[in-house]
Amino acid sequence: MKFLDINDFSRRDGDSLLFDEVLDLSGSDPVFSEARICGKLRNVVGVMTFRATVTGLCSAVCDRCLEPALLPLEVELNTVLTLESSEDDSVTVEGGKINLDKTVYDALLLALPFKILCKEDCLGLCPSCGKNLNDGDYGCSN
Ligand SMILES: [Zn+2]
Ligand SMILES: [Zn+2]
Repeated sequence: MKFLDINDFSRRDGDSLLFDEVLDLSGSDPVFSEARICGKLRNVVGVMTFRATVTGLCSAVCDRCLEPALLPLEVELNTVLTLESSEDDSVTVEGGKINLDKTVYDALLLALPFKILCKEDCLGLCPSCGKNLNDGDYGCSN
């Protein structure tokens, strides 16, 4: 797990902090690989603003053809932090530390589409023989 300690930062008025972290979320469920968070933290008169871009690749199964599907995801986070929480709960802060793993996992989970497709025009499975119609027409008379 990776954390970003913001205890000292919270006392440094006018300071800013750039971060760029690659996280290993390969053990997560659903599996997010190539998870990364990069952005900027600013302290403006004691108010901490957090802006970041979260990216990741979700390894899922296509809802239509049941083949593996890889989904690139990207989420923008923009919130105000205290040492205990974020304004909109999009960032997990505990005791002056940002939990980057949890923040990234939650952001990617929320970005997952309701229906996961391997491609926009996936043809799915043949209702009579169950074969993957993306591989071609098997000449079934449905
Ligand atoms: Zn599919
Ligand atoms: Zn068929």
